[in-house]
Amino acid sequence: MIMTQRIAVLGATGSIGDSTLAILAAQPHNYEVYALSGYQRLDKLFALCQQFTPQRVCVPVTAVDDFAQRLSEASLRIDVVGGAAGLIDIAADSQTDTVVAAIVGAAGLSSTLAAARAGKRILLANKEALVMAGQVMIEAVKTHHATLLPIDSEHNAIFQCLPASIQQDNTQIHNQRHGVRKLWLTASGGPFLNQSFTHMQQAGVAEAIKHPNWSMGQKISVDSATMMNKGLELIEACHLFDLPEDKINVVIHPQSIIHSMVEYSDGSFLAQLGSPDMKTPIAHALSYPERIESGSQPLDLYALSHLEFIKPDLHKFACLRLARQAMQAGAQATIVLNAANEMAVAAFLAGQVRLTDIADINEQALSEVPVAKLSTAADIEDILAIDATARRYTDAIIAKMA
Ligand code: NDP
Ligand code: MG
Repeated sequence: MIMTQRIAVLGATGSIGDSTLAILAAQPHNYEVYALSGYQRLDKLFALCQQFTPQRVCVPVTAVDDFAQRLSEASLRIDVVGGAAGLIDIAADSQTDTVVAAIVGAAGLSSTLAAARAGKRILLANKEALVMAGQVMIEAVKTHHATLLPIDSEHNAIFQCLPASIQQDNTQIHNQRHGVRKLWLTASGGPFLNQSFTHMQQAGVAEAIKHPNWSMGQKISVDSATMMNKGLELIEACHLFDLPEDKINVVIHPQSIIHSMVEYSDGSFLAQLGSPDMKTPIAHALSYPERIESGSQPLDLYALSHLEFIKPDLHKFACLRLARQAMQAGAQATIVLNAANEMAVAAFLAGQVRLTDIADINEQALSEVPVAKLSTAADIEDILAIDATARRYTDAIIAKMA
């Protein structure tokens, strides 16, 4: 293990931020909280600054002066930076060893990419960065010798079930010596697994974000209810493990005990099991290739009566079908899908559209947004241009529907 890794937690005020900081608080000798970022929950960020006394902190540009003043009144000497440029600066800072990429949505892309280009160890929660810019991200990781460790629980589980050589180089997965036949992503099925489509149509925000097994931020909770989360994870897995979408199956496993599996050519399935608690994959990635205490509840196998596996219903969970379709169409389509979905989820949370409209909005965006096939030489500017076009069109689609 690197001794006293200096960690930047980008998205420190969120759910992944909470889990990460709980582990770091319990392991003060091995890790130093070097930098933190927040966006709207600045009182919480201030309390975290008092608790962890980082060297640097990032807030929105408009909040820099007030936040710096508040810190100085509390006699805290912390460098305050602002906005996307501030996040990039912290991610690429020569003092930063590890970046926990835990900002939600497209807002996390530029800092995650900056961390890759600066050759950092990246603990990736922000799946949207890979959905938008998988190829650019993976190339940056390779060129700049960064280390990309997934903390999304499914991808972390798969990572743990793969041979060490593939963990270090994803292109090795095609090497038949390792005999990887398929990956199996498990999904809880979310709060509407046993409800009808009609029930889902009427569902309000409170019901949609009440996840049966995991406690998470609002956007990913809605994504879990529509199963767009599993769709985004399918695309994330294609990039992380260098496989086409048809080599990755999704299976609903309502207990969320098996976090995902690798199927080998001899018929073996390797699985990673644990309590549904993000502290386990985060602790794994923090200490990889060693192991540390995570503080999660050990799994009580005697208390588990049964584990179920169900094939997903692609009518009820159309977003999952759309994710495969986008992955087949190419990178430009996954950018459109991600942008449309972020806007559709925001519109649902604002009470403008129904939960089931999210899939319709995403499907319309995929067929209506005029985007050319993205070349393999495309850079981040090309990606952001498609993202912006997709958001403009999706705005109009939502306005018509609301
Ligand atoms: P939360 O909504 O709980 O936290 C999001 C974080 O991002 C907060 O710190 C928030 O700041 C910050 N943020 C939001 N918008 C912006 C912006 N425009 N610019 C800068 N910072 C911003 O989300 P989660 O922690 O649940 O999820 C974070 C990421 O991890 C997502 O990509 C999600 O898909 C992924 N993930 C989450 C899991 C979970 O269990 N929660 C599991 C697997 C993956 P503030 O709160 O101060 O506004
Ligand atoms: Mg996940």
